[in-house]
Amino acid sequence: MQLFNLKDASDTVSYPEAVKKGLGKQQGLYFPAKIEPLEDVEGLLAKPFVERSSQILSHLIGDDIDSDKLAELVENAFQFPAPIAKVNDNTYCLELFHGPTLAFKDFGARFMAQCLSTLSADKKDPITILTATSGDTGAAVAHAFHGIENINVVILYPKGKISPLQEKLFTTLGGNIHTVALESDFDACQQMVKSSFDDPDVRDGLHLNSANSINISRLLAQVCYYFEAFSQLPEEQRAEVVFSVPSGNFGNLTAGMIAKSLGLPIKRFVASTNINDTVPRYWESGEWLPDPTKATMSNAMDVSQPNNWPRIEALFEFGYLDKSILSADSVDEEYTQLAMKQLQGEGYTSEPHAAIAYKALKRSLKDGETGIFLGTAHPAKFRETVENVLGQPISLPQPLVDCAGKEGLSAELPADYEVLKQHLFKILKSDA
Ligand SMILES: *Cc1c(COP(=O)(O)O)cnc(C)c1O
Repeated sequence: MQLFNLKDASDTVSYPEAVKKGLGKQQGLYFPAKIEPLEDVEGLLAKPFVERSSQILSHLIGDDIDSDKLAELVENAFQFPAPIAKVNDNTYCLELFHGPTLAFKDFGARFMAQCLSTLSADKKDPITILTATSGDTGAAVAHAFHGIENINVVILYPKGKISPLQEKLFTTLGGNIHTVALESDFDACQQMVKSSFDDPDVRDGLHLNSANSINISRLLAQVCYYFEAFSQLPEEQRAEVVFSVPSGNFGNLTAGMIAKSLGLPIKRFVASTNINDTVPRYWESGEWLPDPTKATMSNAMDVSQPNNWPRIEALFEFGYLDKSILSADSVDEEYTQLAMKQLQGEGYTSEPHAAIAYKALKRSLKDGETGIFLGTAHPAKFRETVENVLGQPISLPQPLVDCAGKEGLSAELPADYEVLKQHLFKILKSDA
């Protein structure tokens, strides 16, 4: 698989390079040089999830990873199902929250971990994944890399600023997963990550890698569950399928649109946002005018400058898709709550992110169409909000019960770069 940088087409890389680098020059995103449609989509839809997914990924990645090896990586990554739940006659929720951290980010993070581990196997020194989190991503990354040889993970997060349960989900693993609670806010954590990448001692000495959400391996993994959703629909409901995708950085939507470019017969997409509505306003007016980010109940979508958007533009620009297949809508806080209650009325318990996608789908769905909205997180991950809005108790699923009783292993440090740097060398170079 060849990829090129959307900011500088002369910057071309192979799949292994794109996975290891993440971003190209000038912070440009890598994009496939060519997306060839799959030959036998019908045949693929008849296959089981893991087998189908490794064939799709092998078609995309090509010779860069041997197909038997790739099948093994996919099997290791996709160890949990992605079922569709019927909400009413023409509406389904694609539940992407049955992984170890109960959110769709498990799919992408686990496949990325598998790829990085294979592609770095020839390195003498371990690589270090350094990342800052305000909750979700850190947990997915920590679980995905836990126990993987030759890779250390360091996660920085703001002390006392994430929910205790969220914190337990990634600070109790131990082994190659190191967590640091900084006495500061999320922005300061991000700043520390940036300073580390700018510091040659740390960047080169510890072989830093960011493993962030713009990594191409994550997107490719996410393509697979759109096929999985389709394969579970009754035949008579496959003709006019509309996906509604709750969007923040727009990675999930990009993956869906790549699935369509590969020949999966999706009719159209709805990009659903909360009041951080840069894209819906842009889609209406043609003007890109990001506002300051506002805090909402659907906090994983509190993004006003979505970093994957240039990839969506590229899918249109290079003629893979027509702009008419995308509409965009934003849902405010009041309607988010209303949508959660409407879903409750349909007998389905949901959380704010999925509820936004459901609401936008409902506003858009026409007679004869079948709608699928993406359930990106388990309701228990947003337990307080869900209990407050719905007035019903939410029970904890097993992964949360398991970690709730364990001891957190984080180091606590002041937000001082030199102190952090010493700590990193102490924990990662103790054998040197
Ligand atoms: C990350 C996240 C989103 C947004 O996904 P993008 O790919 O960034 O658009 C939506 N819902 C939940 C629960 C998330 O964690």
